[in-house]
Amino acid sequence: MTATEPSIFSRIIAREIPADIVAETDHLIAFRDIAPQAPVHILVVPKTEEYVTVAELAAADPELLAELVLFAQNIANEHADGSFRLVFNSGANAGQTVFHVHAHVLSGKLEEGRLG
Ligand code: 5GP
Repeated sequence: MTATEPSIFSRIIAREIPADIVAETDHLIAFRDIAPQAPVHILVVPKTEEYVTVAELAAADPELLAELVLFAQNIANEHADGSFRLVFNSGANAGQTVFHVHAHVLSGKLEEGRLG
């Protein structure tokens, strides 16, 4: 049996690779996107990599999804004026490149790009 490689985000959670971590709870972590598409661009990631898409997370653990949304609001309050977009890319054809569910918290004018 081949062990599955941990996702890049699991490696950030494990502190195996560096990231600019801005907040963390028992279940969630938030760090700045390495290629920001807006003045504030922070990723909010459940620590479990059990779920790939937001719909999978919603079906399996709606409380964790609600926790994620409230955590995103707190981050927008702290790093912006409380206004934010919450983007979940679901599936490769929608631009998802990391298959460990995560939300993009974006505030300020978006750069031209795939999130815009
Ligand atoms: P997706 O395209 O899957 O919705 O979003 C993945 C995001 O993760 C992208 O915006 C990408 O810039 C970001 N990302 C990929 N690898 C790393 C990394 O090693 N560190 C950080 N901080 N962000 C990353």
